[in-house]
Amino acid sequence: MSQPSLIERLAILADAAKYDASCASSGTSKRNSKNGTGIGSTEGMGICHAYAPDGRCISLLKILLTNHCVFDCHYCINRKSSNVRRARFTPQEVVDLTLSFYRRNYIEGLFLSSGIVRNSSHTMEQMVEVGRILREEHDFRGYIHLKTIPEADSELVRQAGLWADRVSINVELPTKAGLTKLAPDKSEAVIEGAMADVKEAIAENKDARKHFRSAPKFAPAGQSTQMIVGADAASDADIVGKASALYGQFRLRRVYYSAFSPIPDASSVLPLKRPPLIREHRLYQSDWLMRFYGFAPQEVQAAAGADGMLPLDIDPKLAWALKFRESFPVDVNRAPREMLLRVPGLGTKVVGAILASRRHRTLRLEDVAKLTVSVAKLRPFIVTADWRPVLLTDRADLRTLITPQRSEQLELFAA
Ligand code: SF4
Repeated sequence: MSQPSLIERLAILADAAKYDASCASSGTSKRNSKNGTGIGSTEGMGICHAYAPDGRCISLLKILLTNHCVFDCHYCINRKSSNVRRARFTPQEVVDLTLSFYRRNYIEGLFLSSGIVRNSSHTMEQMVEVGRILREEHDFRGYIHLKTIPEADSELVRQAGLWADRVSINVELPTKAGLTKLAPDKSEAVIEGAMADVKEAIAENKDARKHFRSAPKFAPAGQSTQMIVGADAASDADIVGKASALYGQFRLRRVYYSAFSPIPDASSVLPLKRPPLIREHRLYQSDWLMRFYGFAPQEVQAAAGADGMLPLDIDPKLAWALKFRESFPVDVNRAPREMLLRVPGLGTKVVGAILASRRHRTLRLEDVAKLTVSVAKLRPFIVTADWRPVLLTDRADLRTLITPQRSEQLELFAA
């Protein structure tokens, strides 16, 4: 069979990469491309397709080096036993594509992952080579995210961090039992060992750069990971617990969630249906509660039902508030920031605005209304100079009263 053309391979390998969620370029420092000495920078000037959590528009060329794979993870379309059309790029081809897309302003950077061809170290070597050619031979200053292979030689993973802004290692599934069942070639110990190596390399690099400013940067945007949601029996509480442990142990910048999608010729150990997409969204909201709203993982888990699942019809912050009503109402004129952040419908920006304005005046309900999208939904949870909810907070039908219609869902992160 003839080798597919470059365009055909691009179509195959870009399509095969679409299942990977962990590609936001948040948190990187900008590489300086002034004086015309380098190509590109992460300061957007191309066509933007996505927003990173820090608000920057980003667009990345997101491809696999190859979709050949010697592993047989049940949930993966590229697994050894899958009957898909296979393709492969050389490192130089990935470099040429990246540069030509960049020069046309299509992208701001590259997200490169790969199936495992021949063996893990051989594949990792090829990915590292892409980073090296881009940075060393072309002085490429755009964003590079390399998905590293935990089973590869740890020295190669370290080299990846020298060329990439961010490296990631997929934890794949929230529980060890799930990993053993669905990804029999992978091991939790090996994955976590590789994450620990990257954490150590990042820490060593920070230390070296304190003493020698010329020391090369190592993965300045840190490391991230991805978990597949809904392919195994793990509950939301399990997932929240795992994510929190990963943040704590390995100082991850982000945990990404990817709702499992059924694949052609799927193994019988997989569910037939994908989980509702809103489940993925609720997990991201939980993640924000832990990272920006001061919630402990146990508190987010407590917002879940007896089956460990977060409600789908309301966000986890509202679910927590309805379950722990003794924490409300919160006095917007006196409460500390951490308590204001617990109020459903008050985002970090509004809380900042409340704290700033109450230095000069005592806030009334209409003052809070000017800062929020819908004060009606806040009423059961706050006290102002002229408002106290009295019995409203404890009403048995409060959930029904404030649970919005689908089209006007109460937004956890309302501005
Ligand atoms: S190692 Fe990666 S590409 Fe290969 S089957 Fe597993 S998930 Fe898919």
